[in-house]
Amino acid sequence: MIKAQISEIKALLSAPKNIVIVPHRNPDGDAMGSTLALYHYLKLNNHNAVVIAPNDYPDFLKWLPGDDTVLKFETQLEESSTLINNADIIFTLDFNAFHRAGNQMAHVLEPSTAIKIMIDHHQQPDDYAKYMYSDISMSSTCEMVYNFIEMLGDDDKINATIATCLYVGIMTDTGSFRFPATTSRTHQVIGNLIEKGAENSEIHNNIYDTNSYSRLQLLGRAMQNLKVIPELRTAYITLSQAELDEFNFKKGDTEGFVNYALSLKDIIFAAIFIESQQDQIIKISLRSKGEFSVNEFSRAHFHGGGHTNAAGGRSDDDMQTTINKFISILPQYKQDLSQ
Ligand code: 5GP
Ligand code: MN
Repeated sequence: MIKAQISEIKALLSAPKNIVIVPHRNPDGDAMGSTLALYHYLKLNNHNAVVIAPNDYPDFLKWLPGDDTVLKFETQLEESSTLINNADIIFTLDFNAFHRAGNQMAHVLEPSTAIKIMIDHHQQPDDYAKYMYSDISMSSTCEMVYNFIEMLGDDDKINATIATCLYVGIMTDTGSFRFPATTSRTHQVIGNLIEKGAENSEIHNNIYDTNSYSRLQLLGRAMQNLKVIPELRTAYITLSQAELDEFNFKKGDTEGFVNYALSLKDIIFAAIFIESQQDQIIKISLRSKGEFSVNEFSRAHFHGGGHTNAAGGRSDDDMQTTINKFISILPQYKQDLSQ
C-alpha cells in the first residue's frame, strides 16, 4: 500500500464513519482475529464499526474479545443487510473475492456503494476495492492489520485487546510460527504484541487445549482412514458424514487434521476430504511443502484456491467419485510430486 493511499485512508478515518468489517465464510483464527482487532482499533477512534461474519465459526474462537458483538449474516440477514447498505466504508479481511463471503452475502456486498478496503494475503485478488493492501508473502492478515495500524501512525494505540486478537491470527495461520511465511518480522510483531499485553501462553491454551473427548476420537478415526501414495509423495484422509455424526462433529473439530497427513516423512502433498450432507458437497483442504502449488491444483480441479502451501476447495460428486478423480489427476503432477 503506497503512502498516498495511506494518507487518503487517514483523511477518510479522521471523522466518525459507519464501518462494516467482513471476514470470509467459515471464518478461521486469522479471519476473526483480524476483523476483531480492526473493530477494536476503529472503535477506539470513535467509528461506528461492526464485524459481520458470513456465518458461524468454531467455539475455540468464541472467547476472543468482542466476539459478543459479531453479527452472523446467515442468521441475521435483515440487520446485516441494513448495516451493509448504510456503510460508508467496508473492510474485507482475509479474502479477496466477494464469493468467498458466500453467494448470499456477496449479492449484498457487491452493489454497495461504500468505499471498499481489502487487507488480504491470498493469491489472485479480484479488483473490487478502492484501496487494496494485498501481499501474498505475508504470514497472515493479522500481521497485515498490525502493519496497517502502524502505517496509519497509530501503533501506540495497539492495546492488550487488539494485541490478543492479532496474536491469535498470526499464531493460527503460521501453524504456531512454523510455516515458511513466518519471517523475522513476524516474530518481531509477535514480540511487540506480547509487550502490548497479549498473554501468549493463555492464548495458545484457549485455542489448542480445549479439545472435547469426541474430537480426539474423530481424530483417531481420521488417522485410521489415512491413505498414502508413496510414489507421488501424497497422503489423504477421508471423513464421511456418518463418521462425523458418530463422533458428534461440531464446527472446527477437523481443523488441523490435514497437517497430520503432511507430517508423514517424505510426504509433500496432503489432502482431507470431508463430506457435508447439509451443503451436498465434499469439502477439501489441501496442504503442501515446497514448490507444489495447492492453490493452482485447487483452482484447476476443485473450484477453490488459497495459498501455495494451503488451499481449500470442494467437489459436488460423492466421496468415492471425488477420491477417484483426485487419484486419477495426481499422475499429471508426477514430475512436481516425485522430486
Ligand atoms: P482451509 O483448507 O483451511 O479451509 O483453507 C486453507 C486456505 O485456503 C485458507 O487460507 C483459506 O482462506 C483458503 N481457501 C479455502 N477455500 C478457498 C476457496 O474456495 N477459494 C480461495 N480462493 N481460497 C480458499
Ligand atoms: Mn489468513
